[in-house]
Amino acid sequence: MYLDIHAHLTGEEYGAAGGLQGLIGRAKAAGVERIVACGYDVDSSFLSMRFSEAHEEIYFCAGFHPSELHKYKEGDFERLKALCAHEKCIGVGEIGLDYHFDDNPPKQTQREAFIEQLKMAHALSLPVVIHSRDAAEETLNILAEHKALLACGGLMHCYSYSAQMLLRFCDLGLYFSFGGTSTFKNAKKVHESVQAVPATRILTETDCPYLTPTPYRGTFPNEPKHIPVILKNLAALRQEKEEELKEQIAKNARTLFVKLR
Ligand SMILES: [Zn+2]
Repeated sequence: MYLDIHAHLTGEEYGAAGGLQGLIGRAKAAGVERIVACGYDVDSSFLSMRFSEAHEEIYFCAGFHPSELHKYKEGDFERLKALCAHEKCIGVGEIGLDYHFDDNPPKQTQREAFIEQLKMAHALSLPVVIHSRDAAEETLNILAEHKALLACGGLMHCYSYSAQMLLRFCDLGLYFSFGGTSTFKNAKKVHESVQAVPATRILTETDCPYLTPTPYRGTFPNEPKHIPVILKNLAALRQEKEEELKEQIAKNARTLFVKLR
C-alpha cells in the first residue's frame, strides 16, 4: 500500500471535516491507504485526533511547530502530551526549528520548545517528526546533544538539506520523507539526497495542502492521492523498481511508527 506519512488536513481548503470523506475516497482510489495527519499546535493536533477517530485510514501526530510558537499558552505541552497518549497518535510532531523568516519566533524560544518536545516524546516512547528550515547545523547539534531522547527514532520530514547533511542525520538513526519538492525539475539538492538515503530510511509524504507535485504543480490544494506520482519519481531517481520501493516504504513506516496498523 501507499502511505502519506505527513499531511495537514485541518485547513479550510478541504471544506472542514465534510470534505475529508471525499479526500480519503480519492486517496484510496489511488491506492493510498494510510494518511498521517500532522498537528502544528494544540487545536490542529486535537482536530487531527478527531479525524483519526472518525476514519480508519487516518492516524495523527501531535506537536507544536516552531513557526507557530507565538500561540503558545501555559499548559499547552501538557495538553499535547494528553493527546499523544491516544491509541492513534503515532508520533510527536511536527517540532523543530524554522529560521526562514525574520518574524519567526525567537531562536531561543524555538530551541527550548524543540527540546521540551523531544523530552515529551521520550517520556511517551514515541518517535518525533522534525521540521527544520534554514537551521540544519543547529538542528543536528540539538539532536546529537540529546541523542538519548531519540530512543524511539525520528523523521526528518520534507527533507531539503544536502546529501552530506543527510548522512549525518542518518548517523543519529533518523528517517527521511520526501514529497512534492522531490518532483521539481530544478531541485538538484533534493534529488541528490533522494539518491543518498539508505532504502531502509526513506518515506513518502505530501505535506498537503502545499507543495503539489509535478505534473500537478500549480493546483491547490495538494492531496494524499498524489503519493503514487511522488513514489514513481523517487524510484526513477534511485533507479529502483517502483513496486519494491513501495513495499520497502510500507515496511519502513511500520518500523519507525510502531503504532501504525
Ligand atoms: Zn508539515
